[in-house]
Amino acid sequence: MIKDFGGKVAVITGAASGIGRGLAYGFAKQGMNIVLADIDKENLVKVAKELEEIGIEVMTQLTDVSDPEQVAQLADASYKRFGTVNILCNNAGVGGAGSISLVTLENWKWILGVNVFGVIHGIQYFLNRMLASNEQCHIVNTSSMAGLLSGDNSSYPTSKFAVVAISESLAFDCFNTNVGVSVVCPGRVNTNIIKNTYTFRQNRPGVWLPPAEMIKQSEIGRENLNRILAGAMTPEKLAELVIKAIKNDIFYVLTHPEYIPLVKSRFERINEDALKLYEGIEIKSEQKSKIFKNDSPTFSITYPESFIELKPNPMNLPEVKPVFVAAKEPSIDLLISVIKSSKYGRPLDESVNEIVRRIEDIAREINISSNEPITLRDGTPAYESVIEYKYLGIFPVKSIHLSVLKDEHLIVISIYANANYYNENFRDILYSLEF
Ligand code: NAD
Repeated sequence: MIKDFGGKVAVITGAASGIGRGLAYGFAKQGMNIVLADIDKENLVKVAKELEEIGIEVMTQLTDVSDPEQVAQLADASYKRFGTVNILCNNAGVGGAGSISLVTLENWKWILGVNVFGVIHGIQYFLNRMLASNEQCHIVNTSSMAGLLSGDNSSYPTSKFAVVAISESLAFDCFNTNVGVSVVCPGRVNTNIIKNTYTFRQNRPGVWLPPAEMIKQSEIGRENLNRILAGAMTPEKLAELVIKAIKNDIFYVLTHPEYIPLVKSRFERINEDALKLYEGIEIKSEQKSKIFKNDSPTFSITYPESFIELKPNPMNLPEVKPVFVAAKEPSIDLLISVIKSSKYGRPLDESVNEIVRRIEDIAREINISSNEPITLRDGTPAYESVIEYKYLGIFPVKSIHLSVLKDEHLIVISIYANANYYNENFRDILYSLEF
């Protein structure tokens, strides 16, 4: 988590105008050195001059984010000049084109190229360097409220939903690393997006080909949107919120809380439609069971048939030898791992406490709701630990673990689930363990 921005380095795409420019100012005022990237050379130079007056180091790099080579060059040049990059804002973007029936393929390619591939290219060329740096870093992707609420603007929300999805995946990948992730979903902000998108479109053959009547209507729409944007949140205010999000490791940066009821109603509609689909269908609760047996050390566990055994074993945990992994939709994993007890060489309680301590060290915001000795059905002494992770990636996760010493091995049987799916049956599964 970056708490102190002074002397650190930020790279911002789409920095010659609007939100990008606002972010550059916000970071510069915190004492950061800035790399400004954009396709608009004239305004790029202007913003750089303004920022230099604050007394920080500024570099400009003409970059079309839809071109992977140019983003690779941006990364090379930034690391060459400053030796490190702490914050990357994948912010460059262009506006939508209206009704889906009128949007040309060229338009789709252009908007997805800038708004989606621009973000992908940024991640591609900066992420691994950030991870390898061991410095505190943060990637900020600019999506939009249109990344959570699609509306009628076709290619634009499509691109912004993709940015939310990429960011969520990135947050999983970067969990517990030195790289934080945020996705910014603003409502309206007072920028040049309408004017810029219009100008860019004029220079791109085939990007905008609606009938004359539609062009007229869109001019009126554009004027009205410009009026609305003129009274909207300033990029400076938005930058303050982004800085707060980085400092507090906030993932979803919903800068316009007045939209939250709309986001909720989208989820209510999803729920309502799902219930309609299942009306009258009886969901079977009867559960058949399978038995997993392990030869050395010998134990068996009975688990519901709805768990699918995973082969080859996908877990990649250092020091732990997973002997069995099964998964169940949605997102519930059963994991049996065997650890040579000589690794700890201590009684069960001390070994378990050592493992729990390690989890506490690496996981953020966990709550150990129980960690105590118990006895299995067949009388074997064991240890039960229940751990709640506020977030694993972007979701809350709850896990239950039974640990047993057998034949010089520490056997840990765990079930991990999204906290919404955690239930007491998990405990029954683990307690079916027999030696
Ligand atoms: P803006 O037009 O003022 O600034 C966008 C900048 O991106 C411009 O300087 C432009 O030259 C640059 N750009 C466009 N295509 C580029 C490319 N291929 N490569 C590099 N730079 C390119 O608009 P803005 O509103 O500041 O937009 C910034 C981001 O905010 C966009 O991703 C936009 O979708 C998003 N957003 C804006 C609003 C809003 O109301 N303004 C709301 C939600 C999200």
